[in-house]
Amino acid sequence: MYKNKNYSKALNHNIFKIISQASEDLNLESYVIGGFVRDHLLQRGEPKDIDIVTVGSGIELAKKVSALLPHKPKVQVFKNYGTAMLRADNLEIEFVGARTESYSQDSRNPVVEDGTLGDDQNRRDFTINALALSLNKDNYGEILDPFNGLEDLKNQLIKTPLDPDITYSDDPLRMLRAIRFATQLGFKIETESLQAINRNKYRIKIISRERIVDELNKILLSEKPSVGFTLLHRTGLLHLILPQLTALEGIEEVDGQKHKDNFWHTLEVVDNISKNTDDLWLRWAALLHDIGKAPTKRFDDKIGWTFHGHEFTGAKMVYKLFKEMHLPLNEKMKYVQKLVLMSSRPIVIADETVTDSAVRRLIFDAGDYIEDLMTLCEADITTKNPKRFKKYHNNFQKVREKIKEVEERDHIRNFQPPVTGEEIMEIFNLKPSKEIGIIKSAIKEAILEGLIPNEYEAAKDFMLKKGKELGLQPAQ
Ligand code: ATP
Ligand code: MG
Repeated sequence: MYKNKNYSKALNHNIFKIISQASEDLNLESYVIGGFVRDHLLQRGEPKDIDIVTVGSGIELAKKVSALLPHKPKVQVFKNYGTAMLRADNLEIEFVGARTESYSQDSRNPVVEDGTLGDDQNRRDFTINALALSLNKDNYGEILDPFNGLEDLKNQLIKTPLDPDITYSDDPLRMLRAIRFATQLGFKIETESLQAINRNKYRIKIISRERIVDELNKILLSEKPSVGFTLLHRTGLLHLILPQLTALEGIEEVDGQKHKDNFWHTLEVVDNISKNTDDLWLRWAALLHDIGKAPTKRFDDKIGWTFHGHEFTGAKMVYKLFKEMHLPLNEKMKYVQKLVLMSSRPIVIADETVTDSAVRRLIFDAGDYIEDLMTLCEADITTKNPKRFKKYHNNFQKVREKIKEVEERDHIRNFQPPVTGEEIMEIFNLKPSKEIGIIKSAIKEAILEGLIPNEYEAAKDFMLKKGKELGLQPAQ
């Protein structure tokens, strides 16, 4: 791996020739640095963004590059950071001047000064993110690797260029980045680094919740999120970020009866669901589906361990957690809440003989979330007993078939009452009143119970009968 010292093949894209030219015109030294170089060497697919560092003004270089491009893209300048960005061929290209950084205790935003390429590599978070690829004519395509990042790439190691205690304390976001890269790339975090994260964990408090959520989302969206959550847990970060989750850890025993460890179970569920969906919010629902179990746990002499009402408590906790973490409080939150609230419903159905009316109620309550709810419930099967595993999956398969059959016949999803309130008022010559509500909900119940089909004529007959029971007369 990486025997060949010249990497100009990485620079095939025309944009690099242009940056190189612009750089020469301005008499600057420039390099591709960071994620692009790393991901190219790891063959991680198409790049989305490219970081260019220049010994000089990144803003000047960006303007020159734009001038050399036929479509003269707009240069977005971030004056405060001394950086600039432009888009070319669906790539976001960031330009920054090489710099040194010095940090203060209470902020991750450093005081910066102009510096050399070496200074700039020193301020990078990991050795594998500090690799610079030359765009200069005299050594075009050469990699500058002061910290043996190539070696760490080969050995799949996350390691900081400088003392990890300083690196993590200066900018504690790097602790989450280390864990996120370890999860995304399947790399190990060097032991010293892992210990330093543990020592510096409390520094996480200076990081904004948006940044934390950003990294959590990336961990959740990786192939095996449990890798990241296990590292977060081991370093003590998870307890500081999501104490509601770590509260699920542990097994208690009373009178020889144990419950399962709901924390480790949850991580299994998240890994399971990640095989079947890339949807971030469905993965969040899997992560949070049992959070109500910590506050609702009880031991009952007759029935053993119970988590009575944990779905309801959990759904309320979802709202609080989203609010605290500055996650969106929109329909995404409601979606997660609803899945948590309903997370046990299909299990209850599958346990018994699957009746049409139970399935109709499930579809009515879940609406468009029914598929996702089933995906969540299947991921929730973590039993190590192969017989039970098979049985549970078979049961859910039956529920899925029943859902399909009932839905095709009864159209319960996005239920609209076949007889409207206006029609009820007209037929019985009523003003808005409580009778209308009673009749409407009686019709809905009759349909869900299977007493009448979800059709206009049947519902109208039923309405007339119900009206009579309430002492109402149809108007002539
Ligand atoms: P990805 O884009 O996949 O998240 P990346 O490595 O490109 O990975 P970016 O956040 O785009 O990550 O940052 C680009 C580069 O900037 C990194 O490779 C790294 O060299 C540097 N960098 C980013 N964030 C930090 C940080 N908090 N501390 C030090 N260096 C950082
Ligand atoms: Mg990047």
